[in-house]
Amino acid sequence: MVSGKAKIAGVLGWPVEHSLSPKLHNYWLSRYTIDGAYLPFKVRPEDLADTVRALPKMGLRGFNLTLPHKEEVLPLLDSVDDIAASIGAVNTVIIDEQGKLHGTNTDAYGFMENLRQSISNLAPYLEHVLVLGAGGASRGVVKSLLDAQVPHITVINRTFAKAEALCAHFEHPALEAKPWNDVRAMAIAQATATMVVNTTSVGLKGEPAPVIDLSCCGKNVLVTDIVYTPLETSLLALAKTLGMKTVDGLGMLLYQAVPGFEAWFGVRPEVDAALRKHVLHG
Ligand code: NAP
Repeated sequence: MVSGKAKIAGVLGWPVEHSLSPKLHNYWLSRYTIDGAYLPFKVRPEDLADTVRALPKMGLRGFNLTLPHKEEVLPLLDSVDDIAASIGAVNTVIIDEQGKLHGTNTDAYGFMENLRQSISNLAPYLEHVLVLGAGGASRGVVKSLLDAQVPHITVINRTFAKAEALCAHFEHPALEAKPWNDVRAMAIAQATATMVVNTTSVGLKGEPAPVIDLSCCGKNVLVTDIVYTPLETSLLALAKTLGMKTVDGLGMLLYQAVPGFEAWFGVRPEVDAALRKHVLHG
């Protein structure tokens, strides 16, 4: 139901058509019979500042940000919490009753909560994590691993300087960067890894070859991919063939949406099989 009193939120992106967030939030709004709506807003980078200033005046409760706005929005906000400041990006904004904008980042929460809900005994997998990729999403994943006190995290990226920059940004003894094309370093990292996380965009286009060959990994490694289209990336397919445990990336998207929905609409929503089915096929 959408009345004149409806609570409104949305997602700002350029492009925004691909975003699954409207489908996800509007499912919850209908399920909890909330008078509200969640809308996609296609906002050009050069229009971000004007748009962000206008949204409180239009009565929005808040909004999500997707590419390319997650970093650019930072100076436009009244406050940014510690987690968003640490990651250097905001994906969720809450607008208070005075029209002030408060930014947070729920990607780290979404990543870890998806693992916790998918794997009953996660602790043994959080010993040595091999993170592939050093882009924006990798920062959220690394932050969640540091917060979970993972003692050893190796970041490998095609552009080594970006892996080094990410490790320098967090400046933590658990973190190390290794070059992608260093075969020996890669083999050692794989052999000792208890979990492998793909945060690169490889897999998104349904590439037949996995982002890495997992053959140097032990059988007990947990393999997870944050790419969720397709749901079973070539990396996850390979891991399954090798008898490894896997977790797909859709749950990260679903769980990262929970805190924003609760703040805007007043109900802590549930992530369950019906939601997954709706987002994938509804
Ligand atoms: P990004 O900032 O553009 O970073 C892309 C990363 O992929 C970089 O590390 C890049 O390496 C690497 N890469 C790209 N092409 C490659 C190739 N051919 N071989 C090896 N590495 C390659 O993107 P992002 O924001 O981090 O997002 C990455 C992926 O995560 C996207 O597919 C996105 O959809 C997904 N994601 C999922 C969720 C979720 O909720 N499940 C949340 C956020 C993002 P270089 O540095 O060398 O270019």
